Amino acid sequence: MTEPRRLFIKTYGCQMNVYDSERMADVLRPLGYVMADQPEGADLVVLNTCHIREKAAEKVYSELGRLKVLREEKAAAGGGRMTIAVAGCVAQAEGQEIMTRQPAVDLVVGPQAYHQLPELIARVSRKRGERLAADFAPEDKFDSLPNTRAANGPTAFLTVQEGCDKFCTFCVVPYTRGAEWSRPAESVLAEARRLAEQGVREVTLLGQNVNAYDGPGPDGTPWTLARLLRALAEIPGLDRLRYTTSHPRDFEGPGGDALIAAHAEVDAVMPYLHLPVQSGSDKILRAMNRKHTAESYLRLVERVRAARPDLALSGDFIVGFPGETEADFEATLQLVRESRYASCFSFKYSRRPGTPASAMPGQVPEEVIDERLQRLQALLVEQQVAFNAAQVGRTLPVLLVKKGRHPGQAIGRSPYLQSVHVNGAEQLLGSIVAVTIEGAAQNSLAGALLKAAA
Ligand code: SAM
Ligand code: SF4
Repeated sequence: MTEPRRLFIKTYGCQMNVYDSERMADVLRPLGYVMADQPEGADLVVLNTCHIREKAAEKVYSELGRLKVLREEKAAAGGGRMTIAVAGCVAQAEGQEIMTRQPAVDLVVGPQAYHQLPELIARVSRKRGERLAADFAPEDKFDSLPNTRAANGPTAFLTVQEGCDKFCTFCVVPYTRGAEWSRPAESVLAEARRLAEQGVREVTLLGQNVNAYDGPGPDGTPWTLARLLRALAEIPGLDRLRYTTSHPRDFEGPGGDALIAAHAEVDAVMPYLHLPVQSGSDKILRAMNRKHTAESYLRLVERVRAARPDLALSGDFIVGFPGETEADFEATLQLVRESRYASCFSFKYSRRPGTPASAMPGQVPEEVIDERLQRLQALLVEQQVAFNAAQVGRTLPVLLVKKGRHPGQAIGRSPYLQSVHVNGAEQLLGSIVAVTIEGAAQNSLAGALLKAAA
C-alpha cells in the first residue's frame, strides 16, 4: 500500500465554488488523495478562488505568501514536495499574473477545467510552470467528472447551470465563468439519485442565474427549472429542494410562471427564494444594466408570495454604485421596507477592472458607502430578527444536519433556511423532525423536539 497523499482545499466565495471544491476532491480521490484539515504538510494545496470583489481576490495573494513558507518548511523537514494550485475565478481572470506575482504556484486552473487536475498535476511533477489555457467548456467538465460523488451529510449542492450572459455593468462573472449553459436534465437527475442513495435529504440546485435553466431533457427538448424540480421531487429520499441564485428577469415568461406554480404545488420545493435586486432606484438599475425596475421586482415578489404566503425572501444589494445619490439610496431602503426580507446580503460596490461601471463617473466616496451600508444593514437585521421571532410558537419540520456545541444537541435547518438548535436530538442526525420553536435570535432559532417525523 502506498501512503495516502494529503489534499487541502481552501474555498473562497460562492456556493458554486463549494460545489466545485467537492468535485475536485472526487476527481483526486482515485489518485490516493485524502482530505486534510490544514495546509501544513499537505502534498497538494488548492486555493479555489473568488474574483467577485477586490478584497476576495487580494486575499488569495496573501494566502499564497503563507503557503510558500509552509512549502519550504515541508521540504526542509524532508516531507517532500507541496504542489500549490490556484483554481476558480481569480485563476481564470489573472492566471498569468498569479504565476508572475507568486512563483511558488505550480499550476493555475480555471473553473471549467478542474476535471483535468490529475493530468495537470502529473505534468507539473515533471515540469513546473504549467498554466492551463482559460477555456469555457462546462459540457466537457461535466462529461468528464467521475460518477462517484461523495456526500458530506444530509444536504448537498448540485450545480445545474453555469455562466452568465447578462453583463451587469459591475460584475466580472460573464468574463470569468463564460456564457450561460445548462447541464442536461438526466445528468442532474443521476447525480441527485447518487446523493439520495447516500442519505442526502436536501439538495440545493446552483447556478449563476439558476432560473435561466434550460437544459435538454431526455428527448433533447429544453426543460425549465420547474420541470427539473418536479422530476427531482420524485427521487425517493429527496425531501427538500432549493435553488439559488435567481434573477428577476428570468422569472418573465412561462418558465417563471411554472416555477412560481411549483412553489405552490410541489411539497419538496422549500418556501425560500434568493432573488437579488441590487438597488431600489430605477436610475441605478438602468446604469447597472439589470433590465428590471424596482416596481417589477416588487410585483414579482407579490406573485411568488401569492403562491407561497410564508415565503422567506432573500436578496443581494450593492451600496455605492457609481452615481448613487442619497435619494437613490433612500429608494433602496424603501424597497427593502416593502419587500420584507427574511435574510439578505449587502455589499459595498467594488470597482472591478475591465467592467463598464469601473469607468463610470460619480464613483461614491468610501466613507459615504460605509455610512449607507450601515443604515441598510440595520434595516435588514431588523427584518431578519422580526422574521425569526415570528416562528416562535410554531412547530416546524427541521432537517438535522450536524452536532451542536452542547452534548446531545443537534443543529438543523428549517424550511426557511434558518439554523435551529435542538437539544437531545443528536441521535437523529440526517432525519427530519418536528420541532416546536421556543426562542429566536438574529441568526438562529432554538426549539424542542416534538416527535420524529421521518
Ligand atoms: N447572478 C446573480 C444575480 O444577478 O442576482 C448574482 C451572482 S453574483 C456572483 C453575487 C452577488 O455579488 C451579486 O448579486 C452582487 O450583489 C454581488 N456583486 C457582484 N459584483 C459586485 C461588485 N463589483 N461589487 C460588489 N458586489 C458585487
Ligand atoms: Fe453578475 Fe449580473 Fe450575471 Fe448576476 S446577472 S452573475 S450580477 S452579470
